[in-house]
Amino acid sequence: MRDYHIHYYIDPCAWDEMTFPNIEKKCLELGITEGTVVKHYSAAMPNGKDYWICWHRIVPAQWQQYLDEFAAYKPEKMILHSGVETELCNEAGDINIPLEDQQKIDMVQLSVHYMIDLNCLPMDLMLYPNLDFCPEYKNDEGRRIVEEWRQKAAAAGAENIICGLVNGYMNAIKRFPKVKSLAHMADGLKPLRTYLVDVDSVPIKRIIEIFEPLMRLMAEKGVVWELLNEPANPEILKRANELGVTFTASADGHMLDSGWGPLSKHIDAERFIDKYGLTRGRIEF
Ligand SMILES: [Zn+2]
Ligand SMILES: [Zn+2]
Repeated sequence: MRDYHIHYYIDPCAWDEMTFPNIEKKCLELGITEGTVVKHYSAAMPNGKDYWICWHRIVPAQWQQYLDEFAAYKPEKMILHSGVETELCNEAGDINIPLEDQQKIDMVQLSVHYMIDLNCLPMDLMLYPNLDFCPEYKNDEGRRIVEEWRQKAAAAGAENIICGLVNGYMNAIKRFPKVKSLAHMADGLKPLRTYLVDVDSVPIKRIIEIFEPLMRLMAEKGVVWELLNEPANPEILKRANELGVTFTASADGHMLDSGWGPLSKHIDAERFIDKYGLTRGRIEF
């Protein structure tokens, strides 16, 4: 088995136990023989500051430490790759790590952690709607802001927003060859649902049609579609599979065995892939 998305202890969101030797030991126990240990990398925050909600800008010393420790570690029995998890920023396909630093690692896991800047729906810092992440919005003013966002998203149109997201992914893949995996994709619509975009108002056939160029591009470039064990519309996954997309399982592990995202849950993602009869992928390095 392979898991191209394992977090490293240098990031505050990962536990101290996520060192190379511990990760290798746990991987071998679980039957994972190839993996990527990723460092979170955000060159900039949408608000231009060091911190925003639960994300933070890369600390250069920690980045260098990650690179040095990766170079120094010689795995005994598994294949280990270096990488970052970074964000898609906008419809033009900018990603949150400069080219120069992309060249220092084997791969980029590309995520949508917050709504990207779309032509039809520009990024708006005041309108971050995920109340779970923003306890300070859990009041009347917060609810007003969320409602304003919902209306803005509705005015932009769910179909246009899906098109914008697909354009962003496609442009990033075309521009940056180190993008080898789209992280925690589920059915591709999860971040839009989080941002209250009414994706279910768009017929599933139309959604699939919008995604098809991205699916074809992923198949052509060997970019894998990463799945965690989480809800996803199987029709979208099956169409991607038909068009030659391959899938990888991950636990998005931030700890070994316990906590909210343990590596030991990897097997659940493998079962998810089997449940829908999807083709497993292997990244070419
Ligand atoms: Zn992520
Ligand atoms: Zn992650």
